Amino acid sequence: MQATLVHTETVAPAIRAFWFKPQQSVRYIAGQFVELTLPHANPDDRGTRRWFTLSSSPSEDLVSITTKLAHPSSSFKNALFRLQPGEQLIMSEPMGDFVLPKKASIPLVFVAAGLGITPIRSMTKWLNDINEHRSTQLIYTAGNDQDFAYKDLFDRMPIETTYITRNSSATWHGATGRVSAKTILTIATTQPDTLFYLSGAEPTVERLYGELQHAGIKPHHLVTDYFHGYPEI
Ligand SMILES: Cc1cc2nc3c(=O)[nH]c(=O)nc-3n(C[C@H](O)[C@H](O)[C@H](O)COP(=O)(O)OP(=O)(O)OC[C@H]3O[C@@H](n4cnc5c(N)ncnc54)[C@H](O)[C@@H]3O)c2cc1C
Repeated sequence: MQATLVHTETVAPAIRAFWFKPQQSVRYIAGQFVELTLPHANPDDRGTRRWFTLSSSPSEDLVSITTKLAHPSSSFKNALFRLQPGEQLIMSEPMGDFVLPKKASIPLVFVAAGLGITPIRSMTKWLNDINEHRSTQLIYTAGNDQDFAYKDLFDRMPIETTYITRNSSATWHGATGRVSAKTILTIATTQPDTLFYLSGAEPTVERLYGELQHAGIKPHHLVTDYFHGYPEI
């Protein structure tokens, strides 16, 4: 379906949310993703289509995706960041099973690496908007402290958030380093039925998935969302 760009929002210095009005109303579950097709002149070898998680919550009127302009960036990202309000692209139906468990009593530990924060933004905003209280903790790691998106929102919500940057600037007063299973299991307060939601840069999610299993977490307690195209954080 066609989707029209309504406005954009800067959610960290180089990270932008793009808010769209789809041609038909879109039904989705917080945490799902879509495929966007954006035809543009001289596409590079990565092409004109990309998967993006909907960072919006189903409780919001418009739908959003959130992404970063790297240096250098693909021709797709450059075309997306040039898109003006009123212009259109093609959006698929939402899909995917990186969604909240049906049983609300299950404690959740979200671990987001970089743009992997997008499904977490969707799920936590949804819970907040429907006034549903669940046990949620968030461990959020980014390449540098300028790349924490939605910090204002998470700081306002009833979710215990730990920010860990890989590389810090002189003004950063939080934790610095590479997140490992040991980091997660030290920070998180867990119960036998805790589910760990890992999302973001594929190499980081793959590594944490292996490390957490090695540390004794059973595969059915690990829920993963792999973002291709981004390097290890
Ligand atoms: C289910 C799913 C959900 C996803 N959700 C999101 C999301 O919410 N937000 C999000 O940002 N991404 C998401 N992704 C990843 C997304 O689909 C892209 O793969 C990712 O954004 C990288 O985009 P890009 O290829 O345009 O590279 P860029 O973002 O432009 O660049 C990423 C890196 O690749 C380098 N690079 C760029 N172009 C090239 C090239 N032609 N050759 C070699 N190196 C290059 C850049 O320098 C940079 O280091 C998701 C992926 C999946 C599978």
